[in-house]
Amino acid sequence: MAKKNVYFFGGKKADGNEKMKELLGGKGANLAEMCNLGIPVPAGFTITTEMCTEYYKNKGALPKSLEKEVADAMKKVEAIMGKKFGDAKDPLLMSVRSGARKSMPGMMDTVLNVGLTSKTIPGLIAKTNNPRFVYDSYRRLIMMYADVVMEKAAGIEPAEGKSARLLMEHAMEEMKKAKGYKGDTDFTADDLKELSEKFKVIVKKSLGKEFPDDAQAQVWGGIKAVFQSWNGKRAISYRRIERIPDDWGTAVNVQAMVFGNTGDNSATGVAFTRNAATGENLFYGEWLVNAQGEDVVAGIRTPSPINIATKGEQSAHLQSLEEANIKLYKQLDGIRTKLEKHYKDMMDIEFTIEEGKLWMLQCRVGKRTGMAAVRMAVEMAEEKLINRETALMRVAPAQLDELLHPMLDPKSEKSATVLAKGLPAGPGGGVGQAVFTADDAAEWAKKGKKVILVRNETSPEDVHGMHVAEAILTAKGGMTSHAALVARGWGKCCIVGCAALHIDVEKKQVTVGDKVVKEGEWISMNGSSGKVFLGQVSVLPADPDSNPWYSKIMKWADSTRQINVRTNADSPADAQQAVAFGAEGIGLCRTEHMFFEPKRIIHMREMILADSEKARRDAVMKLLKFQEEDFYGLFKAMAGRPVTIRLLDPPLHEFVGGLTDGQIAELSKKTGVSVDRVNARIKQLHELNPMLGHRGCRLGIAYPEITEMQARAIFQAAARILKEKGKVHPEVMVPLIGTKAEMDNQAALINSIAADVQKEQKVKIAYMVGTMIEIPRAALTADKVAETAEFFSFGTNDLTQMTFGYSRDDVGGFLPYYIDKKILPEDPFQVLDQEGVGQLVQCAVERGRSTRPELKCGICGEHGGEPESVKFCHRVGLNYVSCSPFRVPIARFAAAQAALQWPRKAAKPGKSVKAGKDCKSGKCCKKGGKK
Ligand code: PEP
Ligand code: MG
Repeated sequence: MAKKNVYFFGGKKADGNEKMKELLGGKGANLAEMCNLGIPVPAGFTITTEMCTEYYKNKGALPKSLEKEVADAMKKVEAIMGKKFGDAKDPLLMSVRSGARKSMPGMMDTVLNVGLTSKTIPGLIAKTNNPRFVYDSYRRLIMMYADVVMEKAAGIEPAEGKSARLLMEHAMEEMKKAKGYKGDTDFTADDLKELSEKFKVIVKKSLGKEFPDDAQAQVWGGIKAVFQSWNGKRAISYRRIERIPDDWGTAVNVQAMVFGNTGDNSATGVAFTRNAATGENLFYGEWLVNAQGEDVVAGIRTPSPINIATKGEQSAHLQSLEEANIKLYKQLDGIRTKLEKHYKDMMDIEFTIEEGKLWMLQCRVGKRTGMAAVRMAVEMAEEKLINRETALMRVAPAQLDELLHPMLDPKSEKSATVLAKGLPAGPGGGVGQAVFTADDAAEWAKKGKKVILVRNETSPEDVHGMHVAEAILTAKGGMTSHAALVARGWGKCCIVGCAALHIDVEKKQVTVGDKVVKEGEWISMNGSSGKVFLGQVSVLPADPDSNPWYSKIMKWADSTRQINVRTNADSPADAQQAVAFGAEGIGLCRTEHMFFEPKRIIHMREMILADSEKARRDAVMKLLKFQEEDFYGLFKAMAGRPVTIRLLDPPLHEFVGGLTDGQIAELSKKTGVSVDRVNARIKQLHELNPMLGHRGCRLGIAYPEITEMQARAIFQAAARILKEKGKVHPEVMVPLIGTKAEMDNQAALINSIAADVQKEQKVKIAYMVGTMIEIPRAALTADKVAETAEFFSFGTNDLTQMTFGYSRDDVGGFLPYYIDKKILPEDPFQVLDQEGVGQLVQCAVERGRSTRPELKCGICGEHGGEPESVKFCHRVGLNYVSCSPFRVPIARFAAAQAALQWPRKAAKPGKSVKAGKDCKSGKCCKKGGKK
């Protein structure tokens, strides 16, 4: 049997269902499912995503057989809807929409009202007795078709401000002004007819072709344009950001039109089954009388709330659907309940009321802020709609980031000048310099500036600027406008519908009453209250613990996860912050940061300049007191939790490199070493490849007094804690080991200092000596290294650097090309390369534990806070991950998800895991390699 490329839906039956998202796209699969559920959906058909792939394979050609499949499906639609496509008497109009497997809001194209031609217009007017509606629909068709099919799909890139759509919008604005109209609804049928003619002239003039006056030509133009839009600029950049594979393709949904713009008995709306911004269990949506769907989403008119309960200060005066038509509202509310029960999730729905009849046009799992995701997951679990495991899997770990983000300081807000107030579309605080185009936002952000993108409304063309902006502010649009949807998806601060803003894009400024904000001037936004302030309002750190749903879900996560989460911290303040975020220890204290204070660096430099062991020892021992205090502070802050302290790691020249002549003279004076000798020593220390040079354990081996001093400081600080009846668990970590002999050398020294201090202080310290695994050779010889090392901590920053052979400091030069050309799927310094670097990690864990079964293994590279990498660490049997304080909750959550996805048999946090036993990745060296 020939492959089926077209799937019909309509009446209460459909060829597809919600499980067929890969083939039918999200929209097509859900339209089919709604039909199967008996929900009123206009009939239509879906052309598969496979056809999209074929379209590209055949360089833009579609198979002949598709024509017949489409014609057959169209016949079925006609039978159900009781009208004919292209018919002169009672024409059926169609919409042509995209629909990828994963929702890409507004990133691809749509054409509505397809089928309006000089032949069908008179029939539709006669049938509806509503010429205004017909011409309104017609002018919309011309605008969309010209934009989507004739311009974008044809690859035409008009000059700024010269796109066919903009030229048409200007023509419309001009007419509105000339006639003294306030809004779009003031246009008469004649006005719209005249506009349609003007639009056609614009099409011909700006695109060099006539607008097609044939229904079949229109529908096929629309279908091809949707396929073409899969590779449009916006869609590609959105796919990069959301990591959607290029080869998925989009489906095309061709569906009978129903109209929300036939008069005051018609309307259109968008709703969420719960509040997508806060998660509150209230039906939340917006509707517009006498309008088509694009009016709500595009933010051209500010819509009204659908019910009384969700009216705010700004919308109190507007009439809700509940007030306007309680019967229809109840029917919609019933569909809301049915959908939530069926999908067991918050759904985003689009509906149209045509002459008093309700139709559902779309439903999909709704995008939500991190705050909303957490609240909904917890509340749905408590309502028993889902179980706890599902609740934990519902929240993407990275979404928690938003709850951990700062807010504007209310005190500082009080004294700040309010510029304007709009709708609070994306929570949190945002402070930045105003910019007025997406390109400017991207350019400024590239230079390291914090920007707020200020627009009348945003469109998918703006996504690159929106993505880099601290916050987004729009003058028009509602809570479901493009800006609001996209910002919420990213958890970004956003205010929309801020009507008081008068934006002049050309002058790059915004005016509110007598206040003017020019490009580059600072503004601040409270995305939770909708207030915009002049200047820089100070920000407060996040306070996730005051959020009861967050506390609850984190408790569930902690009782689920099977690995520990530590933090990378070098100061008591950072350590305390991390403990507040749930850190269970310090996985990496980089001690070099402690040497750069002015009072200390001089001794360090003195040590470097010394030319005898004695002079070096004298200099370095001056740092002992400082270091002891540092470690004492950390131990105290961590209150008995394990603290891993890494011995000095960076190349020595980092302490003397870049000194000015003045600083060299001062150094010479302070140390009594001549300027010439200082210069000579600096020259001597210069290395061509410092990251592969005299650093890590090589320092402690060449200059044992450094290790001695640091070990003594650690153990003396620990002894003080013990004498104060506190608890302390120091883990001394030797960096950059490549051979067992290196480890033996440093461990012997550390152990002898420990013995001395314990004897001197008469205490017994429970300590460990271990190493970082940062060099591939250490991973490969881990069984030998583990004979001495009591723990491993994977320094995956260096391990990535050395495995790929990419300098971590210089990778920026070529990485963008690598990502762009898909040579690498992502930056391996951000997301662990499980295939290569991960194999070394797994190999080291297994080989290390073959010697020392209880070997404690953790990770302290940047990957320790990246969700996918955390999950990998769980899978290969690490005991803990360690990351920066703000990523601790994300790591805790990712670890819980890993435990649900790949449960380990035995281990609970804190207990060791047996080598490789629970590993599911199958690429382990025991199976493949030699021991
Ligand atoms: C590492 O290499 O992963 C690591 C944590 O050490 P650093 O980043 O300090 O080199
Ligand atoms: Mg390192």
